[in-house]
Amino acid sequence: MTEVKSLFPALEPLLRQVHRPVQYVGGEANSCVKPWEDTTLRWVLSYPDAYEIGQPNQGLAVLYEIINGLAWAAAERSYTIWPDLASLMRSAGVPQFTLESHHPVRAYDIWGFSLATELGYTNVLEMLDLAGVPLLASERGSADPIVVAGGHCAVNPEPMAAFIDAFILGDGEQAVIELSELARQWKLAGKPGGRVGLLLRFAKTGRVYVPAFYDVKYGANGAIASITPNQAGVPERPERWVLTGLDTWRYPQHPIVPIAETVHERYSVEVFRGCTQGCRFCQAGMITRPVRERSAGVIAQLAACGLAATGYDEVGILSLSSADHSQISELVRGLADSYADTTTSLSLPSTRVDAFNIELATELSRNGRRSGLTFAPEGGTERLRAVINKNVSEADLISTVNTAFSQGWRSVKLYFMCGLPTETDEDVLAIADMAHRVIETGRQVSGQRDISCTISIGGFVPKPMTPFQWAAGADIPTLYRRMRALKDKVRADRSCGRAITVRYADAEPTLVEGLLSRGDRRVGAVIAAVWRAGGMFDGWREHFNFERWMDCANTALAGTGVDVAWYTTRERDAAEVLPWEHLELGLDRQWLWDDYQDSLVAASLPDCRWAGCNGCGVCPFFGVDIELATRAGGKHGGTYGNTYGGKHG
Ligand code: SF4
Repeated sequence: MTEVKSLFPALEPLLRQVHRPVQYVGGEANSCVKPWEDTTLRWVLSYPDAYEIGQPNQGLAVLYEIINGLAWAAAERSYTIWPDLASLMRSAGVPQFTLESHHPVRAYDIWGFSLATELGYTNVLEMLDLAGVPLLASERGSADPIVVAGGHCAVNPEPMAAFIDAFILGDGEQAVIELSELARQWKLAGKPGGRVGLLLRFAKTGRVYVPAFYDVKYGANGAIASITPNQAGVPERPERWVLTGLDTWRYPQHPIVPIAETVHERYSVEVFRGCTQGCRFCQAGMITRPVRERSAGVIAQLAACGLAATGYDEVGILSLSSADHSQISELVRGLADSYADTTTSLSLPSTRVDAFNIELATELSRNGRRSGLTFAPEGGTERLRAVINKNVSEADLISTVNTAFSQGWRSVKLYFMCGLPTETDEDVLAIADMAHRVIETGRQVSGQRDISCTISIGGFVPKPMTPFQWAAGADIPTLYRRMRALKDKVRADRSCGRAITVRYADAEPTLVEGLLSRGDRRVGAVIAAVWRAGGMFDGWREHFNFERWMDCANTALAGTGVDVAWYTTRERDAAEVLPWEHLELGLDRQWLWDDYQDSLVAASLPDCRWAGCNGCGVCPFFGVDIELATRAGGKHGGTYGNTYGGKHG
């Protein structure tokens, strides 16, 4: 075995010259460092952003726990390095390193990326390059790690298909165990077939997508004509991994305590996975069906262990819609009782528009800390909310804020989206009327003038595997016209305008996100061109450069017959082959299309958790079911899988 040495002696002198060097030193409490020679298989796990954003990522924390739980495997972490240090490292010949042992990333077997936002794609390229790993999967050799990616963006892997060896769709826990075992066997057998040999073993599980094993052909109209396997034995439609019985799976009980400041510093526990409210804009909800809950007892046990192991004084109750957990009252009351006389606070990011949300917020603020109340009506009119299947009436909202203001709250935040399908200027301007009524209600109920409301409005991006995957995205002038008109209308409101703050997001990153989220393999050339022109940290306002994106897109797409508008602001018809259609997430295509058609006539659909199955296809396809903690009985409820059982290890 070639000796692998720590890069820290070469790195250390550079750290004195950069901003916030502490983020690169590692040594955090609870990090796991296994001697190199003690393991057969070594992973690097990366969230392609700076430490402060990437370190708190829960998905990677779970995989870190699972892989390091295998006696013969190790997982270390590596984040995107800021340009100040990256430039010094390139000059000094120091490559991308892991935080735990400061070993070069290129020396590891598998490099796993979590793709949570499309605006992180250029950072992936930056990290590969700094590691000395060829950007193109086709140019990698035996000395390079296998580069895999998962996360929500992986449901449309095509824009990144040239740079990633293999994509894992869906839940990662079981996937990393099975793929680690396959890779270990392959290594022990002397790496038969080289990289391709291992990738074939991965693909033959039926649940790994290796882009190089599929050919894409385009038709004369620019759309995809076909996507077909070019290797025997690989699946026509690679499937998503779906985990069941969450209580029985490992979850981080001793998570890493960050050594530098990060965006979330608390013990976060995922209370359930999936969401079936059916909001038509929400990719996260659609691609993680069905709902699978952890039980209140296991959550409480995890929180107690996590707090003891980290010294944190906050527990975050995480999921796509935590207030919908079937045992949420019992859970929150139990946690609030347990930590009543301590400095530990609880946070539950809930945006539900109902009195129950206030009840929860009151319970959560028992020990004194009262966080703001946030509601997410998402659309300004009842019609538009029916289009997006956000079944909240204005009467609900007013009655909810009435309760909030009568119980002492003084400010609320309201979230909306702009650029939704069928949206008109009037739909957006109606947000100002809604905020006006919120302020008036607050003043009446409280008898006070110090009532305030913040409107936060972001651009909508149609996402793959949602009913809106066929819809046209709004163009930049439309987004700005509507958001500015809203601001002007609020300003012109003499009685309430000063109590209302309007915050809107830049429209340009929305358009780029639209290009990347529904792009095909041709968009990969745009990403590479942007990175070559200096683009990275595109999720950071100060680093995002819209002109660079458009210049690179115009050049890279020249001659293809398609352009940025073709990808972003064009409605697709039912017959078009979408770039992600060869991937199986269990969602029935016809169901998605019918739901899209229902949206156009503002017809809504109830949550299958409470109203019965509405036929999205996921449960029968995977042979799974909704798992509510209240219904679990002896099946999954109550026992935490602290150690691996037969099927998990
Ligand atoms: S198959 Fe039915 S029960 Fe399962 S997630 Fe879809 S709509 Fe809900």
